[in-house]
Amino acid sequence: MKRKKGGSKLPEWAPANADRKFASRIIEGERSAPATNSASLQGNRSRLAWTDVDKLVEGVLSSDRTLLSKAITLIESNSTQHFALAQELVKRLLPYAGKSVRIGITGVPGSGKSTFIETFGSWLISQGNKVAVLAIDPSSTISKGSILGDKTRMEKLSRLDNSYIRPSPSSGVLGGVARKTRETILTCEAAGYDVILVETVGVGQSEVTVRSIVDFFLLLQITGAGDELQGIKKGIMELADLIVINKADGDNKHKAETARAEIAHILNFIAPITSGWKTTAITCSGVEGINIDSIWKIITDFTEQTKVSGIFQQRRMDQQLEWLDSMLTDALLDLLHNDQEVQYTYRQLKQEILSGTNTPALAASILIELFRKNISPVKSGDG
Ligand code: GDP
Repeated sequence: MKRKKGGSKLPEWAPANADRKFASRIIEGERSAPATNSASLQGNRSRLAWTDVDKLVEGVLSSDRTLLSKAITLIESNSTQHFALAQELVKRLLPYAGKSVRIGITGVPGSGKSTFIETFGSWLISQGNKVAVLAIDPSSTISKGSILGDKTRMEKLSRLDNSYIRPSPSSGVLGGVARKTRETILTCEAAGYDVILVETVGVGQSEVTVRSIVDFFLLLQITGAGDELQGIKKGIMELADLIVINKADGDNKHKAETARAEIAHILNFIAPITSGWKTTAITCSGVEGINIDSIWKIITDFTEQTKVSGIFQQRRMDQQLEWLDSMLTDALLDLLHNDQEVQYTYRQLKQEILSGTNTPALAASILIELFRKNISPVKSGDG
């Protein structure tokens, strides 16, 4: 361990000029990426192995879950040094990626997402698939608490050989988490996972984010929650390719069927999110495994139809370009935030806006002008 001025500890591989902020970001990155598969918790956790890109590529391609976990840990790291390595890794895996169906699953807490994924994932594996379950949990990025990750989840599924379960990256803003999840999807695909389930909580912006990284989006609804139409209010129904009324078992079967009919009716008035595809509603029980096969049939019909029409490929291409744009926005914002003079002026301008002596539009143009001057001092002096 190196020691920097002020006594803070730095890992051996930190650059010579690294400061305290660098160290704390790396440590957060390492801490943020626990693996849940028991197999991936075993094995050699030597500190440098997960930065050996050759070894990671080889490990991912041979579907070694320990090395897959390490590859994802590298992708999730917040250090700039690891970012370059992670990009090299993903680039080398890219030719082997893309051959899965990416399914987003959302629903309010308690709607039965983990139970459904456990049953659905196990069934898919019994049909010969390899299933990876990833999560995007906005609660963990905002408060460091986690709605999705804190309970012991999907224990049966995690014990199956052909499953891989990874909790949400727990640090960074939603956009950053989405970038990591996209790269994790590609990595899991290169490792041979042909069904990728991306789970998120139905509590905010994260559905829109997940919609932008998956092929098919499934909304789980429940009856008797006091708010029968949990998706309608927040516009989540508009994002869905299929609405599943879950917990349709025992005494709840009849109510679930009534809710399904109501939702099917409402869907007649909502423009489908995927052109050429009609979003429908179906009942299901995650606990009893009812309609699990029918849901898969709907998803395979969807992929077949959209591949024939070209919508499937078009959406993936659009998503790639959206990804580029969001990476650019993030990178530019990062540059702005790292410019101390801009930051100082930004704080001053915020006060001026709040006290009514400046406008947001004028403040933004002052900041951009200052930033341009700082990154290109010579040019800004020219005419
Ligand atoms: P999540 O918060 O959306 O992941 O929901 P969970 O899967 O943790 O389920 C929340 C509660 O609903 C648990 O008590 C489950 O046992 C119960 N539950 C989940 N799926 C079903 C189902 O299909 N039928 C019934 N009756 N209960 C279910």
